[in-house]
Amino acid sequence: MGKRIFNFNPGPAALPLPVLEQVREEFLDYKGTGMSITEISHRSKQFEECLNQAVERTKRLLKIGDDFHVFFVQGGATLQFCMVPMNLAIQGKPVDYINTGTWSTNAIKEAKLLGKDVRVIASSEDKNFSYIPKGFQVDKDAAYLHFTSNNTIKGTQWAEFPKTGDVPLVGDMSSDFLSRPFEVKPFGLIYAGAQKNIGPSGSAMVIIRKDMLERGSPNLPTMLRYTTFTANNSLYNTPACFVIYVVSLVLKWLEETIGGLEKMERINKEKGKMLYDFMDRSNFYRGTAAKDSRSLMNLTFRLPSEELENKFVSEASKAGLGGLKGHRSVGGCRASLYNAVGIDAVKALVEFMADYQKRNG
Ligand SMILES: *Cc1c(COP(=O)(O)O)cnc(C)c1O
Repeated sequence: MGKRIFNFNPGPAALPLPVLEQVREEFLDYKGTGMSITEISHRSKQFEECLNQAVERTKRLLKIGDDFHVFFVQGGATLQFCMVPMNLAIQGKPVDYINTGTWSTNAIKEAKLLGKDVRVIASSEDKNFSYIPKGFQVDKDAAYLHFTSNNTIKGTQWAEFPKTGDVPLVGDMSSDFLSRPFEVKPFGLIYAGAQKNIGPSGSAMVIIRKDMLERGSPNLPTMLRYTTFTANNSLYNTPACFVIYVVSLVLKWLEETIGGLEKMERINKEKGKMLYDFMDRSNFYRGTAAKDSRSLMNLTFRLPSEELENKFVSEASKAGLGGLKGHRSVGGCRASLYNAVGIDAVKALVEFMADYQKRNG
């Protein structure tokens, strides 16, 4: 086997090594079936067990009960940009959004395409989405308030979620889902593309409060209706079986090896602090997000010139540190420190950065 690198990819992204090893271990013969998990029926008891485990572990990790459904929808987080307004908008009421970057912008675009009464109640677009807005008013009349908990491309993250009173929060948590504990109660719906923090690409995990299901019209196309998924335990049609299987292993790792979300958050804070502290002491690397809005998942930074940035990314890659190029829309550099990226990887990165600075600063 070739050497594994330190993987700072933004998504698809690093997965825990013990999970990958288990996948390899049982790939040809899943639990004595004589078949791979990718070869067995989605209605087999072996697969249903994976699926149910994933749901139960998610509920335990987030301390949620039977007032919420947890399910998987193909089409990634992007499909949720239209499914949310289709299913959760209410005739005669506005749908409110907070715009904190590319993904929020895309979510807003989809709601507008559907002809909903979209209001953007707060935005950080004036400063190139480098901060999380504060001091905005939440309208009690809104059908929901949509926000993006972590802005994967701009490197900002909500330290505390918006307070909405009785208005249900809807959160795109694709890039920080299960990176820290949070209170689920204010949420009507949460969604997360699996490929950032909990598994491979191809599906989103969706969590919905049961009363929100009453809003969806029965006239929606079957595959775009949340009740299709909740009434059939994600098994109306053939789901992304392999994704769900790996997600269930990642959640097991999170529960049993890491020890839950409080522990995960402690580790993520330590990782982020290590890299931000180093950048703040340096006069060579410059973080791009406002300090009070910094993300612990995607750390965005610039070097003194684009030339030095390109060289940085390419030399880092040769040194076994991959995925450090910033998103094509913003340039610069970005280190994604998702749950599966260990403290050892961050140490290696900081050492490389210090050495690179010495040679080029
Ligand atoms: C990556 C990402 C998306 C898009 O996810 P897909 O699964 O590719 O559709 C949406 N929102 C956020 C916050 C993301 O990081």
